[in-house]
Amino acid sequence: MALRKQMHAEQQLKALYEQAQSYAFEYADGAAERTVFPAPEAIADLDQFIEDMPNSGGDATSILQQLHRYGSPASVAQTGGRYFGFVNGGIIPVTLATKWLTDFWDQNTALQVMSPITSKLEEVCERWLKQLLGLPQTTVAGFVSGTSSAIFCGLAAARLRIYKNLNWHFNQQGHNGAPPIRIITGRDTHGAVVKAIALLGFGLDNIEWVEGDEQGRIDRGQMPELDASCIVILQAGNVNSGAFDPFDEICDNANDVGAWVHIDGAFGLWAGGTERLKHLTKGMEKAHSWSVDGHKTLNTPYDNGILLCRDKEALITALQASGAYLTSSYGEQRDGMMYTPEMSRRARAVELWAALKYLGKSGVDELVYGLHQRAVQFADELKQANFTVHNDVVFNQVIVSPSDDDNITQSILEQIQASGECWAGSSVWKGKKVIRISVCSWVTSDQDISRSAQAFIKARDFICTK
Ligand SMILES: *Cc1c(COP(=O)(O)O)cnc(C)c1O
Repeated sequence: MALRKQMHAEQQLKALYEQAQSYAFEYADGAAERTVFPAPEAIADLDQFIEDMPNSGGDATSILQQLHRYGSPASVAQTGGRYFGFVNGGIIPVTLATKWLTDFWDQNTALQVMSPITSKLEEVCERWLKQLLGLPQTTVAGFVSGTSSAIFCGLAAARLRIYKNLNWHFNQQGHNGAPPIRIITGRDTHGAVVKAIALLGFGLDNIEWVEGDEQGRIDRGQMPELDASCIVILQAGNVNSGAFDPFDEICDNANDVGAWVHIDGAFGLWAGGTERLKHLTKGMEKAHSWSVDGHKTLNTPYDNGILLCRDKEALITALQASGAYLTSSYGEQRDGMMYTPEMSRRARAVELWAALKYLGKSGVDELVYGLHQRAVQFADELKQANFTVHNDVVFNQVIVSPSDDDNITQSILEQIQASGECWAGSSVWKGKKVIRISVCSWVTSDQDISRSAQAFIKARDFICTK
């Protein structure tokens, strides 16, 4: 009882929340100027967290204190504007504020009857995304944790539909004795796609790999003949080069023979929602399912993936494994769990709604095109300093190398990372070690780009004159 009383007091006094708020503001104010990757001392201090599970309860104020004192400095300063690692993202203020507010709601968005507000906003997001991306009227959306999960859902729907077309009822009959399904994807497909293929039981050895061109796009000339047993997985935004597969003709071919096309556009699908970059996604609306993240290019908080699927019946049947949806409240009210593998879920679509409402169509264009412009700027400044830029900077990705020698490239990269000025990671491109730059945050300014390019140049000069 003592514990409950204490929690009641904390809830009512709100001092704890104010304490967290004050730490959060202090963190935000320092993020732009501290080292992008945490200092070695900050990482060493994480040993402060190593202890046995306490026997008795702790004090809330000191828990927050400890977290801020040792946790905040050991975080990566991703919100500071000079983080270019992986393909992450920033966070738009209104989406963060929305998250704070809705955290107080603590909604479970499985069923409409659990949370009418989050059900309504899922519905609104679904409609807006369809309009923004120009997807077919029948498209439905599942709000999942990220693109990995969204790909899994899209391919599960594909599996159900393709088998059904082959007179095989997958939920009942399973894999044993099933007619073969052909899986076709590009050599440069994302690891999350490969994982979903394995999880769904298609078998990695059964993948028909299609070779890519010099930008990592599927080479259309190398596509195998498609038929009604095919699931084709294409990519909007290569994680290295940012390149887009040629959707238009591949989708036409697939539709002619009854094959399914899934487009993985974790960060790149948003190009389809802009005026100035939508040429990259030409024909994408002819696919059957799409996966995309709010938490990358759109700059919502993490845990914001979206699966879009034009075949509602296939998706729901695949994910619910029963026809129970036909007799539930489904139809009138939106029960979010119908479109996702999970049941209980937090109200992540509210943050997505806030982002879309705040940006509007023009804001999406400005945000996404702005990332592109700054990627182009980064590439130009490095090119002028004799770095080799390996890709056409069509979107937000730049792959560069300062040297032909992989070991030197690696040393320079480590020097850049240790400088604390900015952070980029490495990748391998056409057999060569490269530095991968991903411009993903609205915060990043022209000055951030120039300052980071200078850090690259300084690191190169330091290593090369040593
Ligand atoms: C990030 C990414 C994924 C995985 O998305 P998560 O949200 O991290 O699960 C899949 N495909 C591509 C192209 C990505 O960039």
